[in-house]
Amino acid sequence: MKLLKEHIRHSGRVIGNDILKVDSFLNHQMDIGLFQEIGQEFKRRFAENKITKILTIEASGIGIACITAQYFDNVPVVFAKKFSARNLNSEVYESQVFSFTKDAHYSIRVDKKYLTPNDHVLIIDDFLANGNAVLGLLDITKQAKCEVDGVGIVIEKSFQSGRNSVLEQNVRLESLARVKSLVGETITFVD
Ligand code: 5GP
Repeated sequence: MKLLKEHIRHSGRVIGNDILKVDSFLNHQMDIGLFQEIGQEFKRRFAENKITKILTIEASGIGIACITAQYFDNVPVVFAKKFSARNLNSEVYESQVFSFTKDAHYSIRVDKKYLTPNDHVLIIDDFLANGNAVLGLLDITKQAKCEVDGVGIVIEKSFQSGRNSVLEQNVRLESLARVKSLVGETITFVD
């Protein structure tokens, strides 16, 4: 997606040789015009699918998922919670995720009420690195026995293993920008 790649080239900052910081438009300050273009692009790519729910993970995925849902007939957005809380129903699907950016494991949970075997789910997230967040969400959809129509990623770091891990699950993957390498301040895309 050309507009997204322009934003990444112009405002992305590289940390080390594997972290891309895009706080000015995606992960901290959010560019809603760009989010709308992202949502429309996901809709174009999954136009044939009868999506009934968008599933994402707390926190960065939520904004993108909400704007995207507007182009899918306002289907509900469910986000997996990272923090256990007393007001979260004990009837939950749960999975363990290893965080690439925090270098630690955490649990994600979704209340059983919000995913059913009748659902056709589109999983959305901001980044795909080693795929652990998406694999955790896929694990939850398996527990809920719902159909996953695909995974939509805003920025895929193609030099990490996430793409293969997701495709090994026989799930369709659509990434709007695929980063081939991060070297110094130079960001190179796959295509
Ligand atoms: P994975 O689970 O695929 O290894 O990592 C994906 C998650 O880690 C994303 O949800 C995202 O929040 C975070 N993440 C991974 N790599 C990056 C990165 O380069 N930049 C930012 N901002 N977040 C990242």
